[in-house]
Amino acid sequence: MQHLFEQLLRTSQKLSALGLNVGTAGNCSVRLNAATFLITPSGVATEAMSANSMVRMQFDGTVEPNKTPSSEWRFHRDILQNRPEINAVVHTHSMFATTLACLHIEIPAFHYMIAVAGGDSVRCAPYALFGSQALSDAALTALFERKACLLANHGMIALGRDLDDALAVALEVENLCAQYWRTLQIGKPHILNAQDMRDVFQQFKGYGNWGENK
Ligand code: 13P
Ligand code: ZN
Repeated sequence: MQHLFEQLLRTSQKLSALGLNVGTAGNCSVRLNAATFLITPSGVATEAMSANSMVRMQFDGTVEPNKTPSSEWRFHRDILQNRPEINAVVHTHSMFATTLACLHIEIPAFHYMIAVAGGDSVRCAPYALFGSQALSDAALTALFERKACLLANHGMIALGRDLDDALAVALEVENLCAQYWRTLQIGKPHILNAQDMRDVFQQFKGYGNWGENK
């Protein structure tokens, strides 16, 4: 179990090193067992975190003494509780995802790699206050049959079967947002159709770690 404390710290550090999060923005979590999960602390910059800073929480909302979990514990808890195939959640305020989220833009199938998010779009959840149950409810809806969504005027959530998978989804979604933003600068993208996307999911079955995405 200790290795999950360290893995969660390493995931936070990678999010910073990759430029997906700065300062205290963003957070991540990982399932420990049927009753508990581990989440990053609230309001602490990654540089100041250690493996022991990670906060153990029960799915009923109980927190271990003298620790403060991320203010976004509700959507981490609700996602892990409602998505049994998902074991890790990453939240970022990364530049391009957040830029599109501030415009309330849904990302269509402008590039085949949208399949890493589990379908033919990345939805944008309507705005709700950070840390609120309303934000968690909106996120869960936007994540239906998906592994990522944007959060209006806020950022992005990415899900994975483990922390490495969630981080890889977050990185690819940020990349897609950057590509979509650039595409929109110079024209109207051609959108792949449903058959094109079915073919991508078929092709993904033998490709890297994305084979389980559908
Ligand atoms: P925490 O520091 O409480 O995790 O909050 C950061 C954040 O991204 C809120 O949405
Ligand atoms: Zn946030």
